[in-house]
Amino acid sequence: GVDADHDRPAPAVRLSGLSKSFRRADGAIVRAIDDVDLDVEPGEFVVLLGPSGCGKTTLLRTIAGLETPDRGRIDISGRTFFSSEKGIAEPPERRGISMIFQSYALWPHMTVFKNVAYPLQSRRRVARGDIADRVRRALAQVGIGELERQHPAQLSGGQQQRVALARALVSQDSLVLFDEPLSNVDAKVREQLRAELSEMQRELGFTAIFVTHDQTEAMELASRIAVVDRGKVAQFGTPHEIYHRPASRYVARFIGAINEFEGRVTAVDGDRVTVDTPSGEIVSARDHTGVSVGDEVVALWRPERGHLGDAAHDRANRWSCTVDAAMFVGSHTEFSLTSGEQPIRIWSARSERARPGEEAVVGVDPEDVQVLPATDSTGVQ
Ligand code: ATP
Repeated sequence: GVDADHDRPAPAVRLSGLSKSFRRADGAIVRAIDDVDLDVEPGEFVVLLGPSGCGKTTLLRTIAGLETPDRGRIDISGRTFFSSEKGIAEPPERRGISMIFQSYALWPHMTVFKNVAYPLQSRRRVARGDIADRVRRALAQVGIGELERQHPAQLSGGQQQRVALARALVSQDSLVLFDEPLSNVDAKVREQLRAELSEMQRELGFTAIFVTHDQTEAMELASRIAVVDRGKVAQFGTPHEIYHRPASRYVARFIGAINEFEGRVTAVDGDRVTVDTPSGEIVSARDHTGVSVGDEVVALWRPERGHLGDAAHDRANRWSCTVDAAMFVGSHTEFSLTSGEQPIRIWSARSERARPGEEAVVGVDPEDVQVLPATDSTGVQ
């Protein structure tokens, strides 16, 4: 499908004003999806990331057609599958979407071949000879052609993932949804499966939407991450944007460790902002959100951006601290410090010598500090 307004391909998925509530057993209404707008471009790998209960699975299941929204619109490759006015315009099995579940949902009593052939036999009229051709092609695409006679129990986790992916690809669906498929495997295997999945997605070119609560997994897999917070998309951006330019405190905290300094803006000069903190320190930062003098803000910086020692002679971005702990983790050392009441974390790749109980000065470059309004639109403080 082509977008009528522009001369470029329609988004693989377009969600507009999408909402879905549930009534819990105690009668309370939960807004699992709350007015979500989201465009996923063809060939993208989008990760829906958020803590348990934020609504990411409901969002995925709604795209798949397994849940019916209360309001809004779902367009897939330019065709409307659901709208408030028309209701369900196309049943789930006609949406051209495959879903891969946590357990891969392979049939244990069927061979790999039969598992992969299943969608062709059950939901499309495909000639027998064509089925065999297409199954073998899909198995070859994911690199397990030789396993067609095996049963799922005889396969490794990685091989099972490939069978599930082949089963998704055999229908030639251009959109594959993943519901935490790697959550049942141990960390090492998981890392490897992630790398393989990412490579296959790029090679085969399908659009992927992948649900996880694991931020590392999200950073590794995603072309863009949608951070979900209580049914809303708190930020949608590349892993780089999400990490370095979080749109809210919630996002900053959810992705990686962060130092936070609350204070009030005392000067704005171009994109350089000066913040005074209650304990008397001055923080100099970059602003991307348009704060003004007098605003209550929080200045944020990542532990790996800070340094120990008296590098900066400026009075800004300088904290006199006590070292609470120094933990060597191989690639770097993680220092926990306090400046008055303020906790500060520094991750240093250099071999800095600061022992628990010692005094130390901590500094950070203004370029590495960001300010945001102290209270998120989402209400996080
Ligand atoms: P998890 O990672 O734990 O699966 P999630 O982010 O995927 O969490 P959802 O499963 O989408 O979250 O749930 C979002 C909210 O909707 C939760 O508060 C959940 O309790 C509620 N919810 C989901 N499905 C139902 C349902 N069928 N009936 C009632 N409430 C539901």
